Amino acid sequence: MILFSFTANFGSEESCRLHFKEERDKQGVQCKCGSKEHFWIKSVWIYECKKCRSRIS
Ligand SMILES: [Zn+2]
Repeated sequence: MILFSFTANFGSEESCRLHFKEERDKQGVQCKCGSKEHFWIKSVWIYECKKCRSRIS
């Protein structure tokens, strides 16, 4: 029942991830291709590079 316990803890998990994202935005995200331009895909909590489309979690 790993999925169930994850869902039950999602409230704190979400605020933790939000904090992580804010820190990440401050520092800037750089892709392996050198681009710093990314889309933020909120539904999966991932950055997607605008140039090469690789994803950074
Ligand atoms: Zn890239």
